[in-house]
Amino acid sequence: MKFSDVYTEGKRHILVADDEFINRELLENILSDEYDVLKAEDGEMALEMIRHNRNTLSLILLDLIMPKMNGMDVLKVVSEDPDLKGIPVIVLTSDQDSEVMSLKKGAVDFIPKPYPQPDVIKARISRSIELAEGRQIISATERDELTGLYTIEYFYRYSNQVDKFFPAEAMDALCFDVNHFHVLNERFGMEKGDEILKLIARRLESIFGDPRCIICRKTADTFLVYCPHRDDYKKVAEEVCDLGGDIETAIKIRVGVYSCCDKKLDIHARFDRAKIAADKIRNNYSVLVSDFDEKLIDAELFAEQLVEEFPKALAGKQFQVYFQPKFDIRGDKPVLSSAEALVRWCHPKLGMISPGAFIPLFEEDGLIVQLDEYVWRGAAEQIAEWKKRLGISVPVSINLSRAEMYDPKLVETMEQITGDNGITTKDLLLEITESAYVSDSAQIVERVKTLREHGFFIEMDDFGSGYSSLNMISELPIDALKLDMMFIRNAFNKLKDTRMISIVIDIADYLGVPVIAEGVETEEQYLALKKLGCAIIQGYYFSKPLPAADFEKLLLDKKSSE
Ligand code: C2E
Ligand code: MG
Ligand code: MG
Repeated sequence: MKFSDVYTEGKRHILVADDEFINRELLENILSDEYDVLKAEDGEMALEMIRHNRNTLSLILLDLIMPKMNGMDVLKVVSEDPDLKGIPVIVLTSDQDSEVMSLKKGAVDFIPKPYPQPDVIKARISRSIELAEGRQIISATERDELTGLYTIEYFYRYSNQVDKFFPAEAMDALCFDVNHFHVLNERFGMEKGDEILKLIARRLESIFGDPRCIICRKTADTFLVYCPHRDDYKKVAEEVCDLGGDIETAIKIRVGVYSCCDKKLDIHARFDRAKIAADKIRNNYSVLVSDFDEKLIDAELFAEQLVEEFPKALAGKQFQVYFQPKFDIRGDKPVLSSAEALVRWCHPKLGMISPGAFIPLFEEDGLIVQLDEYVWRGAAEQIAEWKKRLGISVPVSINLSRAEMYDPKLVETMEQITGDNGITTKDLLLEITESAYVSDSAQIVERVKTLREHGFFIEMDDFGSGYSSLNMISELPIDALKLDMMFIRNAFNKLKDTRMISIVIDIADYLGVPVIAEGVETEEQYLALKKLGCAIIQGYYFSKPLPAADFEKLLLDKKSSE
């Protein structure tokens, strides 16, 4: 049985303190359907029971005239004790003056004697509890329609109850988030998306079967769990990811863990921390579990700020397209051959923000689509402008995100952009990151094929960053292979690993596609890559990404040297 079932079936606890046996019995009779009734027959006993049950008592019904200690004194103690004063007290009295007095002393209501209709008593009690619990929750629904898990309101309420019933238990706050759920929805359709969410819900229920575990679906694809501390979350995450069936490979879940949480923090704040931890690994496909760390709070605030400011920044043209040259190194001298368009956010207060700080955020919630179209158009306009004004044609590659690969209108958009600017598919090259090909190659491969049929050139970006295998590239329709920066870096750290680069270059040769090396910073790297037969190089060794005006100088230099 779930803890929450105990809680609802076992009901809230109410203490009836009255010295008259008949009154105690009467009230118990009226209330026992809905509440668990505890009884005290004098003031001292009442106080003792209140202290003992302080974490679980929902309300006290207090007679004012009792032996040993009168009700007014009990009320005074309760209302002055920080541990007790949260428990609402309703006074039972037949004397009007005492009613007013007791309200002044901290009672929330009174019930006159002789007792009114049972319904009136029940209504006053439930309203007082409701007010004390500080929510209109009684009217909210308890269960999420889709998954049958608790709704967020009930989740927080039951989590608080768990704290009350098990104050000594170390508890973990967990946030489960499905990576790129909107992409799943686009890919499989809403119905399948719903089915995935239901499967996740069932899996969570089976993993967190302990009655002290509370589970809810917070928003579309976010699940929260409050449970006694454990330390096998990697295994848990793997179990949740492995839903079986034909969706097995497509779903990746990340788990944010705020373990052994500080119970002095508000329950919401504890789950904010779990969420922050989950978001830290938003775009990291190899890590499933992330622990909360105080330092993350600043980073999260910053991320929130960026997402919030995005619409204004886009409208206010705060985003600029930079160009990083690529050099062909096959001849005697390196020759400028093309460029990569890279976005920069020129923030009025924060200065220049690099895409590493915002692209992953925007990819997560879909804003990337708007930003990319802006960048693609900006790049296309610039290519056209150089052509017209300088008579120079330079191919520029633009970056595509994973989500865009599922957009059925992608080809249309690309053709519109080239068409509107009077440029061709040879001018605007497309970089698609290796990780986009990974889990669901078939659909991406189809999209890439269509793009190529329409004349576009595809460069596989970030190759070697850890997702694909060497034999995979032989099956992919691509026009160039961009070696990931880390690949280069590692290879030259351990010299024997240059062997890997040479194998990749051989395969690329065999496929008839050039290799572009990214992130080349030193002469040593440049010369070694040249020797290995690498065709094109991009990196700080030649140039950082440049504003259009600076890149233009390189174009003019090249033109005058020809
Ligand atoms: P990327 O497409 O792999 O781009 C190459 C990144 O390497 C760029 O970082 C570039 O500035 C950096 N880089 C180039 N040469 C060197 C070097 O020699 N040393 C070092 N340390 N770094 C070098 P940047 O501009 O910060 O962009 C980071 C990533 O953000 C890009 O990686 C790309 O995935 C993404 N990105 C940038 N602009 C856009 C965009 O407009 N749309 C999308 N979807 N993604 C973008
Ligand atoms: Mg790129
Ligand atoms: Mg790259």
